[in-house]
Amino acid sequence: MTDRKSELAANLARVEERIAEACAAAGRARDEVTLIVVTKTYPASDVRFLHELGVRHVAENRDQDAAPKAAACADLDLSWHFVGQLQTNKVRSVVGYADVVQSVDRLKLVSALSAAAVKADRELGCLIQVALDAEAGGRGERGGVSPDGIEELAAAVDAAPGLRLGGLMTVAPLVGSYAGRQRAAFERLMDLSTALRATRPTANMVSAGMSGDLEEAVAAGATHVRVGTAVLGVRPKLG
Ligand SMILES: *Cc1c(COP(=O)(O)O)cnc(C)c1O
Repeated sequence: MTDRKSELAANLARVEERIAEACAAAGRARDEVTLIVVTKTYPASDVRFLHELGVRHVAENRDQDAAPKAAACADLDLSWHFVGQLQTNKVRSVVGYADVVQSVDRLKLVSALSAAAVKADRELGCLIQVALDAEAGGRGERGGVSPDGIEELAAAVDAAPGLRLGGLMTVAPLVGSYAGRQRAAFERLMDLSTALRATRPTANMVSAGMSGDLEEAVAAGATHVRVGTAVLGVRPKLG
C-alpha cells in the first residue's frame, strides 16, 4: 500500500469504529447508517483509494472540482452526492454525474434539476436541505430552506419528472439558537423527517452529521453521515 492509501485506511477504520460505537450506544444496527465520504478539495486518486478500501458513497460541494473528478472515476461503482449550494447554471453538469443532490432548497432549483434529469434520461435523488437557523419563509446563510418551506418543496419534487424525493439533509447551524447544540438540531431534523414520512414513507433518508458531530447525528437517528476531514485530513483553505 502507498503511504496515502495506508493513511486513508487508518482514518477510515477510526471513523468506522466511531460510527459502530455510536450505533451500539443508540441501540441501532450498524447497517442503518451509511457513510458518505466528502472528498471535496482532494484528488481523484484519493477517491480511487477510498473505493479500493470499500467506500461506495462520496460527496462533493463544488461542480468545478466534482465534474472532472467524477469523470476520472467513471469506471468505479460509486454513488456521487452533491452537497453544496447549487446555482442553476451548474445543474446540467451536476446531473451528469450526481446520483443524489442533497442541497435542494428552492423551487427554481427543483424545476432546473427536473428539466436536466429528463433531458439526461436519469432519475435523480433529491434531499431537501433544511436550514434550522433560517427565519420562517427564508433560507439559511449556508443554503437550505426554513422548516416551514419543506412541504412546498417536497410537493414540487413529487410532481417533477425525473426527480425522486429521498428525504432531508441539514448542516448543524453555527449561529442562532442551535449553535453548539448539534444533538438538539439533529433531533429537530428527525421530527421534520417524521412529519415528511407520514405522507411520503419512501422519503426516509436523513443526512446529518460530519466529522465533528457524527455521534450526535447517529444518536438522533440519521441514516447518512457526511464525513470529510476525519477521513481525508484537514482541507487546505480555499482562496
Ligand atoms: C465539507 C462538508 C462536510 C464534511 O465536513 P467535515 O467536517 O470535513 O467532515 C459535510 N457536509 C457538507 C455539506 C460539507 O460541505
